[in-house]
Amino acid sequence: MRKNKKAFSIIGPCSAETREQVLETASLIHQSKLPIDVFRAGIWKPRTRPGNFEGVGKKGLKWLQEVKATYGWPIAIEVASAQQVEDALNSEIDVLWIGARTATNPFSVQEVAAALKGTTGPVWIKNPVNPDLDLWIGALERIVQETKGEVGLIHRGFSIFRASEYRNHPTWQIPIEMRRRYPEIPMLLDPSHMAGKRALIPKLMQLGVDLDYDGWMTEVHCQPDQAWSDAAQQFKPIDLYEIIEDIAWKQKDKINQGEESLLEQYRQHIDLIDEEFFNILNRRMSISEEIGQLKQQNQLTILQTERVQETIKKWLSLGESKGLSKEFIQKLYEAVHLESIEHQGKKLH
Ligand code: PEP
Ligand code: MN
Repeated sequence: MRKNKKAFSIIGPCSAETREQVLETASLIHQSKLPIDVFRAGIWKPRTRPGNFEGVGKKGLKWLQEVKATYGWPIAIEVASAQQVEDALNSEIDVLWIGARTATNPFSVQEVAAALKGTTGPVWIKNPVNPDLDLWIGALERIVQETKGEVGLIHRGFSIFRASEYRNHPTWQIPIEMRRRYPEIPMLLDPSHMAGKRALIPKLMQLGVDLDYDGWMTEVHCQPDQAWSDAAQQFKPIDLYEIIEDIAWKQKDKINQGEESLLEQYRQHIDLIDEEFFNILNRRMSISEEIGQLKQQNQLTILQTERVQETIKKWLSLGESKGLSKEFIQKLYEAVHLESIEHQGKKLH
């Protein structure tokens, strides 16, 4: 993202609450000059726990038609069932998205896909709540099989078992892999649901630009603190406008000539370091295999929990002294340790 400062922007409140709230939010977007390609609002809200606001339902569709008639923006809503797709299509909703909870369930995705058969409007698919690349790919395949319209992906983060400062942890490697496999499919970032709180959103939007996303889906509300859903993550349109003003836009591949060769040198350097890194890993694993044999001869278990605890402590302090995050070191340790256990067992079979 993006030459010419262009981010494809789906903007609007988390939920349509009242006619006034929808129209007031749209009017504030218009006044703020916030760049917008599509206006969003949830009509049916999938809530994790019962008893929360579950959306206004069909009556909200009329309010969205009013927004479209007034400002000319295409309208997007979330759909999770065949009935909802039918209601949306009957109300001339232009754009649909599949929410994270729905994307986890192949039955639901298939039902929505079947209802979309032969339709031509764009459909965006959020990542499933759990960090499962195949599930996201499956949802994409099901929708692509049926719709004739454009299909895109929205990265909104994942539930993970570790504590995280994010409401939904980015787990960047999943969208990066998704884009490697499907380079032609646009990918938006949803910093609102990823962050869960306003303070983290500017940093995420800048990251979206740096990581070359095609745009974003971001929540705004005329009175964010009074919102009936997701109050802590919604901005007033003018505040989101200010954040976007502060974004440092990046080019994808144009670089000054002198700097091009510098970039090339840095990349060669990185490649050499990677080679060295793999040689070191290979040495570490060979020693693990020797250790495995020694443990076998002495009838010791492969897993020695005390040793694991000591080593991770050492890793964390080494990592800290080298400016590496605790989270990264933990993940790296888990991966290296698992591989090492495999190698310890290798010579035994
Ligand atoms: C939403 O966009 O309002 C929403 C419910 O998001 P998600 O499916 O990402 O939780
Ligand atoms: Mn929301």
